[in-house]
Amino acid sequence: MKAEFTIPVVTNIPTTPSVVDGAMAHSRPFVAKSDHQSALGFPEELVEDWHDRALAKMKELLGKYRSLQVFMDSCVKCGACTDKCHYFLGTSDPKNMPVARQDLMRKVYRRYFTFAGKYFPWLVGAVDLTREVLEEWYSYYHQCSECRRCSVYCPYGIDTAEITMAGREILASVGIGQKYSNEIIGKVFKIGNNLGLPQPAMADTLLDLEEEIKEDIDVDVRLPLDNADAEVLLVTPSADFFAEPHVDGLIGYAKVFHQAGIPWTLSSHASEAANFGLFIGNDESMQKVAARIREAALELGVRRIVVGECGHAWRVAYSYWNTLIGPFDFLDPNYPAPQHICEATYDLIQAGALKFDKEQNDDKVVTFHDSCNVARGSRMGNMPGGQFIIPRALIRASCNHFVDMREDSIREGTYCCGGGGGLLTDDLTELRVKGALPRVQALHEVIEQYQVTHMAAICAICKSQFTKVLPFYSLGMDMIISVHQLVGDALVMGSEQ
Ligand code: SF4
Ligand code: SF4
Repeated sequence: MKAEFTIPVVTNIPTTPSVVDGAMAHSRPFVAKSDHQSALGFPEELVEDWHDRALAKMKELLGKYRSLQVFMDSCVKCGACTDKCHYFLGTSDPKNMPVARQDLMRKVYRRYFTFAGKYFPWLVGAVDLTREVLEEWYSYYHQCSECRRCSVYCPYGIDTAEITMAGREILASVGIGQKYSNEIIGKVFKIGNNLGLPQPAMADTLLDLEEEIKEDIDVDVRLPLDNADAEVLLVTPSADFFAEPHVDGLIGYAKVFHQAGIPWTLSSHASEAANFGLFIGNDESMQKVAARIREAALELGVRRIVVGECGHAWRVAYSYWNTLIGPFDFLDPNYPAPQHICEATYDLIQAGALKFDKEQNDDKVVTFHDSCNVARGSRMGNMPGGQFIIPRALIRASCNHFVDMREDSIREGTYCCGGGGGLLTDDLTELRVKGALPRVQALHEVIEQYQVTHMAAICAICKSQFTKVLPFYSLGMDMIISVHQLVGDALVMGSEQ
């Protein structure tokens, strides 16, 4: 794959790069247009009184999120986080060190919100809020995928992702939003999914998939839409409806429900599990996107809500839904609300309701990429570490050949794919390719050692990101695969059980 930038070299021993000042100062995503901004209630362009409004917003956020105030005050510059960010490791830009990213806001915070910064700014590294500072925020708060890896290694638990979210929210509130995320959120408000896919197109796509499955395995597996007799509402990222390899995951979920005899449905009203309101740090948008799911569940009269393979969607569902759109007292109390599709499949396996022919996946040696928002922003199943155990259990149930990557690159320490947090846009290709380096490095090791052929994931963004960036590292885009594709391909269907 040809690139207009230098692709990092994958070495056998991961190293911390020498810093290159300003290496990624040019990287910035397209700014939201006026209609993208107004759809979300933000100013259409940079407001005249941006300085005062930005500081007022910062004051509001410091009051609203106690954690933000604590994070601003508590960094001791120990340096433990400096080499933990994939964007620093891939770009060498010192401003991509988590502590430096935090300091972009901390310097302004000190200037306006601390005694020392107000009267002796030079003593505490405090700076005025200027247009240049805003520009730098825009650039570097869009070089953080809010993956939270750095917070795992910080002795104070400082979460740079929260600071990034606050930075983005302040920027949007003065008229400098990000086009990619805001445009997508606007589509969900209007149509119900990130792609702007209307109901008839969805219905056609699902019918095509049913025909494809019938041709493939000669079983009438249904992918129902707006079925009022369903027990389960499946809410999944809209990429599952057509993108590769996502769609094979959707086929896998359908096969599981079919084989377990569970009446289920998708909804044209809640046709998106993703919630980019999280990425821009805006509670109102996050609530409005999530509300469609409660509305659909009530209208269809379902007893369970299951969430498909999407990392940040699961974080929003697991960690925020109850506050945003709960209570879920209308659902069946015998099931978690919400429940992850991996957890639903895992429970069926434990109950002996599914059988597998693992040999169907014998052409593959599989490894697993833990997605950040699942690994560090949620849990799964009724056990500590379930978010790590359950997806691996599904892979082991459906494959004979599975190996994990290097320990410090998986589970809590997993590396971001490089495209999370609202950065999965072509205007950030250089950042995405470079940010994928640590994961590609760990993948490369298991390819050399164990001849790994596929990397499974349970996140729509990870799947799209790796499909795009793996070829830059001379790896096939089809290496990345849905966990439920493995499940679906090995599942013994019909009465053969
Ligand atoms: S949250 Fe992730 S992307 Fe952001 S600074 Fe920390 S490690 Fe880097
Ligand atoms: S690890 Fe935590 S305390 Fe240490 S420099 Fe990084 S953010 Fe500051």
